[in-house]
Amino acid sequence: MREPVTVIGAGLAGCEAAWQLAQAGIPVVLREMKPRKKTPAHHADLFGELVCSNSLRSDQLENAVGLLKEELRRLGSLILRCADEHRVAAGGALAVDRTAFAQAVTDAVRSHPLITVEEGEVTALPETGQVIVATGPLTADALAGDIARRFPGSTALHFYDAAAPLVTFESIDMDSAWFASRYDKGTADYINCPLTQEEYLTFWRELCAAKEAPVHGFEDRNVFEGCMPVEVMARRGEQTLCYGPLKPRGLRDPKTGREPYAVVQLRRDNAGGSIYNLVGFQTHLTWPEQKRVFSLIPALRQAEFVRYGVMHRNTYLDSPRLLDRYYRVRTEPRIVFAGQITGVEGYVESTASGFVAALELARRLEGKAPIDFPPETALGALALYVSNETVEHFQPMNINFGIMPPLGYRVKGKRNKNAALSQRSLEILAGLEELGTRKKAYL
Ligand SMILES: Cc1cc2nc3c(=O)[nH]c(=O)nc-3n(C[C@H](O)[C@H](O)[C@H](O)COP(=O)(O)OP(=O)(O)OC[C@H]3O[C@@H](n4cnc5c(N)ncnc54)[C@H](O)[C@@H]3O)c2cc1C
Repeated sequence: MREPVTVIGAGLAGCEAAWQLAQAGIPVVLREMKPRKKTPAHHADLFGELVCSNSLRSDQLENAVGLLKEELRRLGSLILRCADEHRVAAGGALAVDRTAFAQAVTDAVRSHPLITVEEGEVTALPETGQVIVATGPLTADALAGDIARRFPGSTALHFYDAAAPLVTFESIDMDSAWFASRYDKGTADYINCPLTQEEYLTFWRELCAAKEAPVHGFEDRNVFEGCMPVEVMARRGEQTLCYGPLKPRGLRDPKTGREPYAVVQLRRDNAGGSIYNLVGFQTHLTWPEQKRVFSLIPALRQAEFVRYGVMHRNTYLDSPRLLDRYYRVRTEPRIVFAGQITGVEGYVESTASGFVAALELARRLEGKAPIDFPPETALGALALYVSNETVEHFQPMNINFGIMPPLGYRVKGKRNKNAALSQRSLEILAGLEELGTRKKAYL
């Protein structure tokens, strides 16, 4: 009998990882602190709990998260199977009945003959054996402390309370916006999105009334003073934003020659200039509300959000300095991280990292060569982003086409281009011989 692999955390990443290992014939001990102890965001006793929205976002191949889902689906992901079985109508998105979904994940994991569940909080990394740590963004304090001690310095854990949403450059309507810096100082680094008085008032009213994500016990309300959510600022008065993040002073619209009534500024967020953040838009709104309200800004009507704003404690590793492309600790490869703790952001991305981490570990234990998912695949792009040593100020990231290599030829229209990127990925996946029987017939 083989030595079991210890998987810590029965969230999306941990369940996917445990299942993939077990399906490969490797025994697993899955250690989960529920139901004895729960993070402030978890409420159910079930595994695979969706802590907020019940949507796994777009299910369209023109969208990068749609591609990531399709890759996982075709490679036999447990989480995708359960999500597909329990989907609820949600247009082009994959939304699920959250309880039925979590019950299905729990049943599959608990009934697998090679998975043993051990309840109770893990307070330190096991000293021996193969381990996958998938304890999520709210990893319990004792274990978080142990990880920080074991991998000190540049590989310590990060904590942050606020982040503004990110959008792709190509989804910004540059017929409406323009590049400039305030008072034309320095280089024209900002994208300026103008609003007329009428547009501003509509935006302001919707922002004031928009739905906030539930406040959990772990959030420090004092942070709001130092880093105030844009909706909290808006509620202080009709004009408050015009003296804050939407200040138009020194920003003359080249189309009119005048300063607009209000201006939202976007700042480049990556070296390549493919992603921009909404300056001063740290927010606590739910993700659907962010999309609805921020899309009222004329230049952002079609904006593609690659990460929504968040305001909560988030524990993630400085993965570019710690992990390799298989999510293994470079200096101690028996320890593997998976899920949101690695800096991937979102339900599907967490699942994907659990899948890749387990697949590679299983292959290693079987004496096989790893599968290097190429950057053209969503699975590969995510793993390579997280382990890219040249990324200096590492920030959690949703999957997006901006972190995949371009097509190398012109395709007219964004949807067509994205569809071609997805097609390319699925063809590459179909050609990966190492995947063998894992590939379904239609790949
Ligand atoms: C408040 C909040 C809202 C969010 N909203 C969304 C959203 O709407 N959409 C989206 O895509 N993503 C959202 N996210 C991100 C989301 O957390 C991740 O996408 C996903 O749940 C992470 O999966 P995971 O498996 O890494 O961790 P989790 O799903 O958090 O699972 C971690 C598991 O580890 C267990 N655990 C923790 N510490 C220990 C320990 N020491 N010992 C034993 N067990 C332990 C936990 O009980 C939990 O079961 C949100 C995150 C937060 C915090």
